[in-house]
Amino acid sequence: MINRRDNSMEERILKLKQERNAVILAHNYQYGEVQDIADYVGDSLELSRIAARTDADVIVFCGVHFMAETAFILSPEKTVLLPDAGAGCPMADMITAEQLRQKKMELPGATVVTYVNSTAEVKAESDYCCTSANGVKVVTQIDNEEILFVPDQFLGKFIISRTGREMTLWPGYCPTHVNISPEDINRCKRDYPGAKIVVHPECRPEVIALADEALSTSGIIRYAGRADIRELIVGTEVEILHRLKKENPGKKFIPASEKAICPDMKLITLDKVLKSLETMTPEVKVPEEIRVKAKAAVDRMLEIV
Ligand code: SF4
Repeated sequence: MINRRDNSMEERILKLKQERNAVILAHNYQYGEVQDIADYVGDSLELSRIAARTDADVIVFCGVHFMAETAFILSPEKTVLLPDAGAGCPMADMITAEQLRQKKMELPGATVVTYVNSTAEVKAESDYCCTSANGVKVVTQIDNEEILFVPDQFLGKFIISRTGREMTLWPGYCPTHVNISPEDINRCKRDYPGAKIVVHPECRPEVIALADEALSTSGIIRYAGRADIRELIVGTEVEILHRLKKENPGKKFIPASEKAICPDMKLITLDKVLKSLETMTPEVKVPEEIRVKAKAAVDRMLEIV
C-alpha cells in the first residue's frame, strides 16, 4: 500500500527526473517499489544496452556499483548516479586487476572472458565481457583453445557444460546464489509437484542439475510468460518475483529459497533515489585510460546477441 508520504516521494522523484532529463534503470533484484518507479527494469545486458543508447543526460542506476560503472564506460558524457555508493558486489570483489594480471602471466596464450559482474579495472584487463544471458554465445565463438573465465566459477561451469569448451576458472562465486541448496529445490518439488523449476546459472551445478532450465533473469522473465507455465519454482534473488507476479497475474511463483537475498541490491531505496536526484550524487566515474580498455571488452559483449 502506498501512503501519502511515499506517494509524494514518488511524485518528487518523477518531477526531478524530468527536470534533470534523467532515466532511471533498475535491476530485476531491486525492491518492488524501486522497480515500479524505474523507466526500465532488466538484467545487466538489457540495462547496459539501454545505457548505451539513451539520450538522457543523467542515468540513475538502481543496482550495484559494477552496473553503474558499465553505464559510465558506455556513456561517459552522461552523469551516472548510484543512489548508495556502498552498493557493491562481493563476487566482483573476488578478483582484482592485479590478480588477473598475475593469472594472465601464468596463461599467456589464453583469451580472457570476464563476467560483467566485475570491476572496470578487471574488465580493462579482459578480451571479452559476457553476461549470464550471452555467456554461452560469447564462449562458443572464441577461436582459441585456451580460455580463462573470471570471476564466477559456477557460471563458468555452466558455460562449460553447454559448450563443451575447456576453460580455466577463477574460484569466485555469488554469495546470494550459493544460498540456494539442492534440499531447497527438492523441498519445493515435493510441495509443488506440478511446478517447473528455473534457476540462475550463478547457482551451484548440483542445483542446476535439478532444474528444468538455467536462465539469466531476462530469460526467466520470458520463460515465466510462456502459456504452458502455470506454477514456477524460481531459483534466483527473491525480488524477481515482484516483476514475475506483476507481469503474470494468475500464475504461481515460488521462491526456491527465501534466503536468496542480495544485501547490496537492497541498499537502494526510494528515498535514496530521491536524494540522489536532488544532490546529483553519488556519481560513478571511471578513469579514461581504464574506461577505454574496458569498453573494448564490453563492446564485444554487446555485439553478441
Ligand atoms: S546477486 Fe550476487 S552477483 Fe548479483 S550483485 Fe548480488 S552478490 Fe553480486
